[in-house]
Amino acid sequence: MENQVTLESIQDFKGKYPKQLWYLFLSEMWERFSFYGMRGMLTVFMVSELLFKEQEANLKYGAIQAFVYAFTFIGGLFADKILGFKKSLFWGGALMIVGSSILAFSPEKLFFIGISFTVIGTGFFKPNISTMVGALYKENDSRRDAGFGLFYTGINVGALLGGFLCVWIGKSYSWNIAFSLAGIVMSIGLLTFWFTKKTLGPIGDSPLQHLPKKKRTTRELFVFIGSLLCIPFILIMVQNTAYTDLFMYIIGPATLVYLGLEMRKLTKQENKKILAALFFIVFSIVFWAFFEQSGGSLSLFALNNLQDNLVGVTIDPNVVNNTSNSVFVIVFSALIGLVWLWMAKRKIEPNTIIKFGLGFLFLALAFYVFYATRFFADVNGKTSLNVFTLAYFIITLGELCLSPIGLSIMTKLAPKHLWGVMMGMWFLASAYGQYVAGILGAGMASPDEKASVTEKLISYTNGYHQLAIYALVAGVLLIVISPFIKKLMGEVK
Ligand code: GLN
Repeated sequence: MENQVTLESIQDFKGKYPKQLWYLFLSEMWERFSFYGMRGMLTVFMVSELLFKEQEANLKYGAIQAFVYAFTFIGGLFADKILGFKKSLFWGGALMIVGSSILAFSPEKLFFIGISFTVIGTGFFKPNISTMVGALYKENDSRRDAGFGLFYTGINVGALLGGFLCVWIGKSYSWNIAFSLAGIVMSIGLLTFWFTKKTLGPIGDSPLQHLPKKKRTTRELFVFIGSLLCIPFILIMVQNTAYTDLFMYIIGPATLVYLGLEMRKLTKQENKKILAALFFIVFSIVFWAFFEQSGGSLSLFALNNLQDNLVGVTIDPNVVNNTSNSVFVIVFSALIGLVWLWMAKRKIEPNTIIKFGLGFLFLALAFYVFYATRFFADVNGKTSLNVFTLAYFIITLGELCLSPIGLSIMTKLAPKHLWGVMMGMWFLASAYGQYVAGILGAGMASPDEKASVTEKLISYTNGYHQLAIYALVAGVLLIVISPFIKKLMGEVK
């Protein structure tokens, strides 16, 4: 049965989306449920159960997030070279399930061990499922961006449900149940993939098909055992955030050296495309560093400076801060995908560089609106939740011009045998983004712990004003240098 599905038959699909996209959508949706469920629980759990100080919990949260995304490079690398995307996905999913089970069993005692499994697991799962989406399309299929848009909706449905349910169950009932739920849902994601993987035909099969089975299995075992051996190191690193700096200084340059070595084997044309991909990756670090204020400074801003009224309904501003982005993605992602398709049909679709530039312009506008919340403040320094939510709407439009498009362009610009690595690098940029976001957020916080609510408002909104200006500069810069990047991209749009 497996052999009957050919790449040709998959890529020759009729209509807007290939049917395999829906299966990957569902698998990723459940994985993101588990991931964002965990992510939502981390800080709260560390503060309320492990009794960490807030600052320490924040630092550890940042370190965990940075490690999660940094390991996507390693997951991508081993998928390209040894496991193939399908096996990587199983291995990653299995490790995530083990991690959640450990946490469900004894969250207080085994917290960091459980988290370390999850870090490695996500590294193997996350980049490789995204790469498989790209593989569903022929090189120049203009439906690819819309496909990634739909896939992105799945990510956010999972993120919304997980982020809400796990935190709610953890806080109001039991952390054990909440962590179990993350594990159960991850299992559903993996089963979904298991039952539908035959429809992917050769996509994601081992790159070592040509080797005798025994040799292949030995190499696979090497990856499995090697990744387990990494766990104690991760355990040490997430517990001592001082190592995070060191790790971040090393991993980026190391990946560049690795890529440089790989590039020596490529043609000039292929190398130019990799260079273009690196431009996108570098700009995305800036984007995520600003965007990820949502988990840090914006959540404190929501806590201190926002009224609890959204278009007449009383609601906790932190709930709005944590969920509005996902809600807006769910509502607008497919719509924007369809807009690109509509424009493509009329031959007026902006190219990827311009879409990225637009992403930054929306980012700039959103931060300008975050800044402008200060003009709507009452005498107590509390300001309008409506204006704040409007900013989230705008930032989401920016995200939709950049994030799904970024996934898509990685699969267009990299040669097939480097897809995993390039997707890993794309997510590594998120790791750096998270890391820088923490530093920016700390810089914005008022140095005086006892600052009044109004002083906090001024301090944060000053920071947002600066971010708006930087985002604008980045957007304009991208658009100005777009002819140069376009040349590097060759025929890729
Ligand atoms: N929200 C997206 C996801 O979870 C993008 C995350 C990122 O790259 N920082 O996949």
